[in-house]
Amino acid sequence: MAIKDIELPRKVLVGENALYEIDALVSELGFTKKPLVICDEITKEVAGDIVCSELEVDATLSRFSSPEEVFDFEKLVSRKKLGYVVGVGGGRILDTGKLVAFKTQKPFISVPTSASHDGIASPQVSLKQDKPVSVRVHSPTGVLCDTRVIAKSPKRLLASGAADAISNYTAVLDWKLAHEKTGEYFGDYAAALAGMSAEIVMENAGKVVDDVSMLVEALISSGVAIGIAGSSRPCSGSEHLFSHTLDLICEKPALHGEQCGVGTIMMAYLHKADWRGVRDALKKCGAPTTAKELGITDEKILEALMKAHGMRDRYTILGSGLSRNGAEKVAKETGVI
Ligand SMILES: [Zn+2]
Repeated sequence: MAIKDIELPRKVLVGENALYEIDALVSELGFTKKPLVICDEITKEVAGDIVCSELEVDATLSRFSSPEEVFDFEKLVSRKKLGYVVGVGGGRILDTGKLVAFKTQKPFISVPTSASHDGIASPQVSLKQDKPVSVRVHSPTGVLCDTRVIAKSPKRLLASGAADAISNYTAVLDWKLAHEKTGEYFGDYAAALAGMSAEIVMENAGKVVDDVSMLVEALISSGVAIGIAGSSRPCSGSEHLFSHTLDLICEKPALHGEQCGVGTIMMAYLHKADWRGVRDALKKCGAPTTAKELGITDEKILEALMKAHGMRDRYTILGSGLSRNGAEKVAKETGVI
């Protein structure tokens, strides 16, 4: 058997005013040099300024999250001999920070300002090239979630995070199916952990957007499941392929978690699993359950359903692809279109 390479965060802090604990976190992790702190104008105001004053450094603003920007940040880390990287913000900033840390071989501290997806603690970044790809990097060494800050973030982002956790439901079904059909490695522990995040969020769908520590824990556990599995498999199946396809073909895609949530309804239908339970839980979270609520046309939904299987080499319930009739059937019967 191949050697398993499991990478996990060393320290996770979740709680009200956790931002003020960042210097304690840093000394516990043994970092002595100064960090590069990346945020944008908005996240600087809500959390970055506190982080910077606690660590006695200036914030570095991120604007484009482009490969060029990552390269500039890399140069900055080596020129100033910085010891670690802190990302304060949403998905793109955390991804930029993870990438800069990975390329400069420095530890990374993740400070999310919302809880909109499972990238908070995962060892992956998503890059948008001609096809969206996720790249394996290191897990954040530290994760610091200030629930006071996260609770104040837009409800739409939190509902999207809840939907991303719920999407583990079909991701795990796809993983199991791939194992049966192709002999692909299946990790019981990672699958159980990812499945549990979906389950807890679904069971508490009515309050999870208000009880952000529960939501944050679900998303961190998803990231940990990815670390244990060594791939995004436990948290990314056909519903994510559907979302990635929408990102590619729509001029104005919806949020990642929102699209994955709607995908989960339809993929659960294809799996002959509890798609109604998924739909009802998403509704209770305040997440979209239809094309209309996503702001995406019925035609694009059908196109994404038909193209999703080709997005990456990953066996799912979509097999070698849905026909137009097949796509129409699942989208109509689940009420998505
Ligand atoms: Zn996701």
